[in-house]
Amino acid sequence: MTVATHRRTRRAEYHDRAWAREAIKYLSANPLCVECAKIGRTTKAREVDHIEPFKGDYTLKWTESNWQALCKSCQSMKTRRDQNPPLFESWFVPKPRATP
Ligand SMILES: [Zn+2]
Repeated sequence: MTVATHRRTRRAEYHDRAWAREAIKYLSANPLCVECAKIGRTTKAREVDHIEPFKGDYTLKWTESNWQALCKSCQSMKTRRDQNPPLFESWFVPKPRATP
């Protein structure tokens, strides 16, 4: 590992630790999943998600108005949607339950 990559790693670690601290604070103020709330479900949020994926942009990462509290399953669905927008356009529209 070169000195430069070592520094970059240290910086990323610093950001991750600081981020974890902020996320805990944010979740204690915003304990419920916002996407579940939209469809009338009450689910405990587990993650602080970036509404607009920050893709390495630290300014966007640390902009609180770009944060939302999500539960694990909403977060993983959103991550997939962000990676494959056309496939997950309507992922949050609740599907009517098929009657047996
Ligand atoms: Zn949720």
